[in-house]
Amino acid sequence: MAKNGLGKIKIPVCWPSTTQKETKWVLKALKENKISSTAGFVELFEKEFAKKIGTRYCVAVNSGYSALFLALRALGIGKGDEVIVPDFTMIATANAVSAVGAIPVFVDARWDTCNINTDLIEEKITPRTKAIIPVHLYGHPCEMDEILEIARRYNLFVIEDAAEAHGAEYKGKMVGSLGDVSCFSFYANKIITTGEGGAIATNNKKLAEDLRRLRAYYFTPGTHFWHKKMAWNFRMSSIEAAYGLGQLERWNELIEKRRENAMYYSERLEGVGDLELPVEKENVKNVYWMYLIKTRERDRLMEFLEKKGIETRTGFFPMHWQPIYKQKGDFPVADKLGKQTMYLPSAPDLSKKQMDYIIKYVREFFKEKNLNNWSWRNWECSGTSVGRNLLYMD
Ligand SMILES: *Cc1c(COP(=O)(O)O)cnc(C)c1O
Repeated sequence: MAKNGLGKIKIPVCWPSTTQKETKWVLKALKENKISSTAGFVELFEKEFAKKIGTRYCVAVNSGYSALFLALRALGIGKGDEVIVPDFTMIATANAVSAVGAIPVFVDARWDTCNINTDLIEEKITPRTKAIIPVHLYGHPCEMDEILEIARRYNLFVIEDAAEAHGAEYKGKMVGSLGDVSCFSFYANKIITTGEGGAIATNNKKLAEDLRRLRAYYFTPGTHFWHKKMAWNFRMSSIEAAYGLGQLERWNELIEKRRENAMYYSERLEGVGDLELPVEKENVKNVYWMYLIKTRERDRLMEFLEKKGIETRTGFFPMHWQPIYKQKGDFPVADKLGKQTMYLPSAPDLSKKQMDYIIKYVREFFKEKNLNNWSWRNWECSGTSVGRNLLYMD
């Protein structure tokens, strides 16, 4: 895989972990001829996933985006409504809101966790606000007590976007079990995957039943081809669910691998250059979906690592930068995150040898630039950093 002619990628930024467990389940689906959504393993996958999250119900769909879209529809959110969404997130969160006809209202981030700044939510609430979507970014849980309290006070729904946070915990409770509904993605780079897929988890029985029918054309039991509501086809296949059942057998292993890799990186990158490493706030369990670092040298570091065959990726670009949501507004933290975040390879099967190779070159980058001795944190941080100009004068 040559990229930009700069070199061959030796270490991809992420790849799925398929073992005999997944293979066994998928072969079982094939041998039993259970390939669609209705015959076979989808229901079993839903039951097992709900058990892991600690909710009564789970409805599997074909993507994380579909999960968000259906959750919003099932809660009756649509035209004329506003939904609070973090400015720093993956585009799916905002697009699902737009797709139901509502308006995503962006709130700035916290610097340390990258998550929505709960102090700034209330000022964005209007009489049209119907819901808040906290996104547990990169595996770190949001400040759910604060969010749930605001939601109670203003009578808003809370839809957790837990696409990056399978197995993360907030005050001993599983992320995805705290809001009215929660949405997961099982895309290939997520902590638990089905290749493509998603799910909505909830304790609300009526909502779950509605979601089940909204997922598939709203067929009516008894009078099959009678459709009382507008609905779509967002079904997950039995083959995908089977793969997911293999992954669920490895729940602890897949989560712990990501945590262990993060610890390994952090122990060896602490204090290097101006790097800021991922945090784990008190009373939460971070599952480190991707190992996200912050540095003013982001673009140069990415280029340097690419030449060494290490694939990295920037963090998200804020929603208010996006051509489809471009707007003026005060999002200083998201602006900075958009410029300074990147993640290092974060696959669960990343070996120590690979991590040592990555760590070596991250350290070398900062050493070459003689950056280790700079007291970065004393510098005023602005978009166009004075520091950068100074450093590259030599
Ligand atoms: C991946 C992701 C999604 C979308 O999931 P897909 O399965 O790719 O549609 C939504 N929200 C967040 C925060 C994500 O990281």
